[in-house]
Amino acid sequence: AKQEGRDTLRFFNPEMQAVVDAHARLEARMHEALEANAFRLFFQPQVNRRGVVIGAEALLRWPLDGGAMVSPAEFIPLAEDTGHIVRLGLWVLRTACAQLARWQMNERTRHLKIAVNVSARQFHQPDFVASVKDTVRAAAIDPGRLELELTESAILSDVDETIRRMNELRALGIRFALDDFGTGYSSLSYLKRLPFDQLKIDQSFVRDMAEDESSEAIVLAILSLSHALGLEVVAEGVEMPEQRDFLRQHGCDAYQGYLFGKPLPMEAWGDFLEMI
Ligand code: C2E
Ligand code: CA
Ligand code: CA
Ligand code: CA
Repeated sequence: AKQEGRDTLRFFNPEMQAVVDAHARLEARMHEALEANAFRLFFQPQVNRRGVVIGAEALLRWPLDGGAMVSPAEFIPLAEDTGHIVRLGLWVLRTACAQLARWQMNERTRHLKIAVNVSARQFHQPDFVASVKDTVRAAAIDPGRLELELTESAILSDVDETIRRMNELRALGIRFALDDFGTGYSSLSYLKRLPFDQLKIDQSFVRDMAEDESSEAIVLAILSLSHALGLEVVAEGVEMPEQRDFLRQHGCDAYQGYLFGKPLPMEAWGDFLEMI
């Protein structure tokens, strides 16, 4: 143990101490923010081939006192490491379901769906399936309007258990999307086995499509493979009309990106709903 302690010390310099301290501060603040209900849920529109809004992806935001936002890219990994993601993820699910319930009360918005990101650690909690069922029931929403987005990291840890959980929720009508497709390792071999409804092309491929032939080839391959497997395809990070046109020409089903709308707080959604 003494030996181990010495090794640890050897790698521990002031710079690393600063990183560790910053993390510890961020973690303490995250705990406070959870207690104070300070997180916010933003919604980014998804549109169909005709540009009509069909729903939204729920995206977490952490506003600080000065008005600045901590990026989810920064706090989600920390929330996963510390386990805070379990409580945070449940809050996201409840908030998204409450919004679906509101949309369902109005004839003009009842067809809209909401996609919720579920991290691997959250998905593999023993009571995950039960907590989703309870949340959906309590909100009295149509489960067919709820979509759960998983990444490959959620699948890889235990494929059979993942399939079992997905099927149990799909039996209620909940849909599943495979997020960030193309960035992981073993997507192709699992795609056939896993009961996904939809696949999201990672925004890095969409961004590089125009300049990089291999990105374009990957996008085309994803589109034809997905359609052959009966999966719907959503392209992420669509910023330019040329990207939309290319994707549409090759059969992409749905689109998300700044071209159609940034993630917005629900209060700002009125304008989008005017477009429907
Ligand atoms: P993601 O699930 O891939 O979400 C898409 C990200 O792309 C979002 O970043 C969104 O704001 C951004 N985006 C959308 N359209 C465009 C575009 O046209 N151009 C560019 N450059 N970016 C675009 P955001 O909101 O910062 O979220 C980052 C990541 O944090 C998400 O990536 C997701 O992995 C994670 N995250 C966000 N909310 C949640 C949550 O509630 N639960 C979990 N587990 N993870 C979340
Ligand atoms: Ca996502
Ligand atoms: Ca994504
Ligand atoms: Ca991502």
